[in-house]
Amino acid sequence: MQPVIVGVADIKNRSLAVEDAKEPATLISAETAQILRDHIDSLSVVQTWTWPYQNLPGLLSQWLGVNPKHQTCTEHGGNQPAKLLDEAALRITRGEATVAVITGGEALASLASCVKHGKMPPPGWSSPAQNVTDVFSPTNRELRKDIAGLHSVGSPIHVYPLYENGFRAHREQSLQENHDESAALYGYFSKVASRNPYAWNYGVEAETTTSIGTISKKNRMVCSPYPLLMNAFNTVNLSAACIVTTTELARRLQIPEDKWIYPLGGAGSKERENFWERPNFFQSTAISKALDTCLSVSQLTSKEIDLYDFYSCFPIVPKLACHHLGISIREPQKPITLLGGLTSFGGAGNNYSMHAITEMTRRLRQGSSRNGLILANGGVLSYQHAICMSSSPPKEGTPYPDSEVLGRGELDPIPPVDFEAEGPAKIETYTVEFKRDGTPLRAYIVGRLTDTNHRFLANEGDKSTLLRLASSHEEPIGKLGTVIADPSGLARPQLLRTLRPRAYRLGSRSLYGRATEFLQNHDPDLSESQRMVRQEIAKICSDFPDNYWAKVDETHQFPTELYEALASQGWLGICLPQRYGGSELGISEAAVMMQTIAESGGGMTGASSIHMNIFGLEPVAKFGTDEQKERWLTPLIAGRHRACFGVTEPNTGLDTLQLQATARRSGTGYVLSGQKIWISTAQRADKILILVRTTPRDRVKKPSQGLSLFYTDLQVPQVQITEIPKMGRAAVDTNSLFFDDWHVPEVDRVGQEDEGFRMILHGMNAERILIGAEALGLGFAALRRAALYANERQVFGRPIGQNQGIQHPLADSWMKLEAARMMIYQAARLYDQGYTDGEYANAGKYLAAEAAFEACERAILAHGGMGYAKEYHVERYLREVFIPRIAPVSREMILNYVGERVLGLPRSY
Ligand SMILES: Cc1cc2nc3c(=O)[nH]c(=O)nc-3n(C[C@H](O)[C@H](O)[C@H](O)COP(=O)(O)OP(=O)(O)OC[C@H]3O[C@@H](n4cnc5c(N)ncnc54)[C@H](O)[C@@H]3O)c2cc1C
Repeated sequence: MQPVIVGVADIKNRSLAVEDAKEPATLISAETAQILRDHIDSLSVVQTWTWPYQNLPGLLSQWLGVNPKHQTCTEHGGNQPAKLLDEAALRITRGEATVAVITGGEALASLASCVKHGKMPPPGWSSPAQNVTDVFSPTNRELRKDIAGLHSVGSPIHVYPLYENGFRAHREQSLQENHDESAALYGYFSKVASRNPYAWNYGVEAETTTSIGTISKKNRMVCSPYPLLMNAFNTVNLSAACIVTTTELARRLQIPEDKWIYPLGGAGSKERENFWERPNFFQSTAISKALDTCLSVSQLTSKEIDLYDFYSCFPIVPKLACHHLGISIREPQKPITLLGGLTSFGGAGNNYSMHAITEMTRRLRQGSSRNGLILANGGVLSYQHAICMSSSPPKEGTPYPDSEVLGRGELDPIPPVDFEAEGPAKIETYTVEFKRDGTPLRAYIVGRLTDTNHRFLANEGDKSTLLRLASSHEEPIGKLGTVIADPSGLARPQLLRTLRPRAYRLGSRSLYGRATEFLQNHDPDLSESQRMVRQEIAKICSDFPDNYWAKVDETHQFPTELYEALASQGWLGICLPQRYGGSELGISEAAVMMQTIAESGGGMTGASSIHMNIFGLEPVAKFGTDEQKERWLTPLIAGRHRACFGVTEPNTGLDTLQLQATARRSGTGYVLSGQKIWISTAQRADKILILVRTTPRDRVKKPSQGLSLFYTDLQVPQVQITEIPKMGRAAVDTNSLFFDDWHVPEVDRVGQEDEGFRMILHGMNAERILIGAEALGLGFAALRRAALYANERQVFGRPIGQNQGIQHPLADSWMKLEAARMMIYQAARLYDQGYTDGEYANAGKYLAAEAAFEACERAILAHGGMGYAKEYHVERYLREVFIPRIAPVSREMILNYVGERVLGLPRSY
């Protein structure tokens, strides 16, 4: 049997008055042709948004007085009208039906009006399957309990923009070019609708490219890049129907042949349901496949199609279709819409393309065009169905093709999706939802982790990211940033696990910045344990962004939160024996830890808050008794004791062996007197490791003899602690100590009396390595900020980083920092292997401090004026990077050391 369309009709109820509110079934039943009524044996209805009927086909059959053996109502989806025509044609071909009616309708405008006037349910409407109190639309559908729901994303108003932005970046269009293209396309659509008598906006002055492209109160931005006039307008009352029968019956009933329109073939395809599981966001395999298969089963090529009607809830759908078929989006040579799109014609729920079928039939009947193709789209670019129609019958003997709905889209490989993504990442696509007042509400980001290329979903991690994503100048796709668990986001049980939404910070610090942002192959030289330390510490630090460090610096508050986070996970004992709760890892791992803390933006503030705990008690671990280790190391590692380190004195400075503080024996202990200066964390420390002279200088052979080391309680009345106001690192106090008649028990002495200097030497190389690693961290943090800023800041029409005057110093700094890093990690490895000479530890610390200082200075200069502003943090870095140049040993003393000890030159001091 040859199927043929013999009757079409559209109904529009333009009235918004409650008394005119006709339910969808009324609008639908009004169209059905009387002449064929007796023969109707198939009735298929597109599911309505408006009203949840108990049995819509049954109700329509009853009203029409027919009893078709085949009655169906579809699922939701804008692809359904084309699918229904395809199925009806097939049913006729197979002899399963003689007259098939396909129809659908919406009365969302009437429903909205009744809701507005408190007339619910609308007077006279059929009783619904469930109570209706409001207007249903997929845009206000409840968000699902999945990863998309966790990020409040997933409605059509979100997902189509994700595609538009992805398609724009893929074609390397500027934001403006893309916006102009969409405005021009919808200007053309609006003109078409204004001339179509069935369009909701028929007779209304058409919107223009300018009015659609201008963001205004009336045309507010909804989800970028789509303003209101690029969104579907669903508040309409429209219905349409189409009757398909056999050529035999049409002939028998003497329906003139020039009214016959032949469905030639159709094809459906679908993408993965979850938008985050799509292969990409610049293509729809389902659209391409539906179009190609539909053309091929209809034995047509795209060249033979005279009229298209591409579904168009948002500009991206016709754009993707045009792109696939090689049709110009700006200047299509053939009509690509007969209706005018869901904005101007009216978004008749799932039934839009039914109107395309009726209009296509009318246009083909006119005779000037022969073949037409309709593309109907549903879900969030999820389901596609295309159908070809013609005024000419198919080639002799060709039966109507049987094309199953194809799942071709699912064959495309998709990236793994990480629900707990962390680390540096790139934006794959994004959109920003706006509030009604035109300010940005929230960003929705689909990103890829740079390390694994796994995909993730995130919202913006800070205001500046939101504003930058909302800007219409900068292309964010491909931009680097960091994804973390949103510290402020509520954890929600999802998919059997408790998940926190992800937060993405555009171009902000990346904890793995040095490795992944400046190196291709990510920490190639780190050992497994170093890599593990870096990842774990980075995770902890991700809760302490640059703003946290800026705040503690400004308010002089000790960073207790970081200290406690590190203590609670056992990191304070990284190098100390396992017996007392430590991890017994080496200085190689501790260096990674300190570098990572500094590099995360914590700088010297973050590092110094724990620095002493990490290396300071090495002499105790090595020379202390078991009783002392138990008494001191256990609470230190658990974070219950804080320790500080007292060597420097005001009168002797770097000439440590001349220090003047003394301890004299008294009863069961000692009495200490003297001064110390620059003692960090003394305001809060419970204990001090202090070096004092127990035997006067003139009674020992060498000045290094006669010094003793004590680890004892600090907060006693005999010790006066006065904070020194200083240039940077304000959150971690540094102090002058004055003490007299300070009784210290003998059990608090570490090792032998008079052997203190030898013991303290043991920790010195370790301290230099750690300080060097901290300097590196700060240098890399500055360099990262500089590189990100230089990439984004546009002056003279290009990124400033394109200028070699900016680029080369940064490249030079990277090489110097990396060189210093090699030296530092070499020194750490040697230290862990038992090497005791100091040339590598000293040289590494020197090179790292110098390279970091230069990087911080260059970072400020690369930021121009903004380098001087606190907002960009590099001025704080510079203030802090002086510390590793001065302490624990100055640059000059290291040069003295190398000159004398390595090169064998005469001692210069
Ligand atoms: C923020 C901060 C925190 C600190 N925390 C601690 C702490 O917790 N515990 C602690 O004990 N100390 C601490 N220090 C002290 C630090 O170790 C000393 O400042 C450092 O060792 C330099 O000593 P000085 O300040 O006495 O300099 P000086 O000895 O006074 O030297 C001044 C300058 O002269 C140069 N100089 C001196 N002699 C020579 C020479 N022979 N040849 C060439 N140049 C020379 C030095 O290199 C330096 O540039 C801290 C210092 C700072 C700034």
